[in-house]
This record gives sequence, C-alpha cells and structure tokens, in this order.
Amino acid sequence: MKAKVTKTGPVFPSSEMRRSFVKQLLMTVATIPVGLTLVGCANRGEGDTGDQDASRDVSQCDDLSKVSEVELKKRKSLGYTETSPIPENQCDNCNLYIPPVEGQKCGGCILFKGPVLEEGYCTYWAAQEADATI
Ligand code: SF4
Repeated sequence: MKAKVTKTGPVFPSSEMRRSFVKQLLMTVATIPVGLTLVGCANRGEGDTGDQDASRDVSQCDDLSKVSEVELKKRKSLGYTETSPIPENQCDNCNLYIPPVEGQKCGGCILFKGPVLEEGYCTYWAAQEADATI
C-alpha cells in the first residue's frame, strides 16, 4: 500500500509504514555525496526561489521554467532521465517518488523540485517498502 500525498504532505496508513519510509529515506539521503550538499548550499540565493512547492506548481511535465537553477543542477547531478534505462526501476515504483496530485499528469521527487515523469529514473532510485530487503 502506498502513502497518499495531500497538500500538507504524505499520509501513511500506519506508523510502521511511516517509520520504514523515514528509515529508508534517511539511508538513501545519507548516500548523497557531500559535494552535492555543498554545491546546493554554496548556490543558495543564486536563483533559488525558495519555492517549496515548485514540483506541484508546474502543470506541464516538460516545463522547467519555474524550477530554479539550483534544483536543475540537483536534477542533473542525480542523473535524472525522463525514460528509465532499467524498465523495472522507474520513478513510479521508487520510494522517493511523489505521485501526482489529482488532476496533474506528473509527480515529483523528494530529492529535488520540479516535475518528474512516472517512467523517469535517476541513480538514487530506491525500492519501495514491499520490494526493500532491509
Ligand atoms: S528514481 Fe530518482 S528521480 Fe525518480 S523518484 Fe526515485 S529518486 Fe526521484
């Protein structure tokens, strides 16, 4: 069972699912190179609009006009592609994927802002709980 995403954030059906999700998220985020974090911090204020809901503001999946340069760099450094080279590993079955809100075509990713396609992929793909072998 997947978490539902509301305007206020993800809602988990049970506390076990929430704990498991947070655990996997922390493990995944811990693997992000320190350099990426430093780049993000160094560029803070240079084109970063601070808009926390940028992924939800963009109605067209290919419209990156509302996404800051900082977030575009993150997207690129994570190796995001619109079509996964590994068919069984796509954004829509990644634990870090934010499903589209009702009426929207594309979702988002916890790791960066902006639209994310269901069939997309990046190097930080993480198995969902049912698939996880932790
Ligand atoms: S595969 Fe990458 S871009 Fe897609 S949801 Fe997972 S972490 Fe985000």
